[in-house]
Amino acid sequence: MLGAVLNGDKFCMACATPLEARETAGRLRPVCPSCGRVVYYDPKIAATAIVPRQGKVLLIRRAGEVGYGLWSMPGGYVDRGEEVEAAAVREAWEETGLEVAVDRLVGVFSEAGHPVIVAAYAVHETGGELKAGPEALDVGFFSPEELPPLAFPRDALILERWREMRNGS
Ligand SMILES: [Zn+2]
Repeated sequence: MLGAVLNGDKFCMACATPLEARETAGRLRPVCPSCGRVVYYDPKIAATAIVPRQGKVLLIRRAGEVGYGLWSMPGGYVDRGEEVEAAAVREAWEETGLEVAVDRLVGVFSEAGHPVIVAAYAVHETGGELKAGPEALDVGFFSPEELPPLAFPRDALILERWREMRNGS
């Protein structure tokens, strides 16, 4: 419990006193018992791109530590100062070699207790050449009805929302 609250931080950044978990501003947070400094953790923002082609969607087989060998939509963390849409476009290009342009926001997806917020964008291809980037073992288009094993269950929900949007408008 303490470990989860401290999130890996052990010492106060200001005075190096060991941090404690204390109820502060509505929840347990790391607090320095010496100088009173409170550590507030920000969420992480990721952008993901839904790239359709003939009724299928583009997925990558992940080469990184998280979800190695499993599949996900192209995407990744937004850099500080980067437009979220630009991050979706950049990640699609880095991971799949395709140039894309954003059509619309499909949704912003978050879960209680989960540090990552995902902004999902429907995009369309504008160029490039399909090729697995350094962070991908493989790339391919899949029918939303026959998805391979996913790294993030959230991706199935995102695709469901995307299909509802397409059918509804
Ligand atoms: Zn301190």
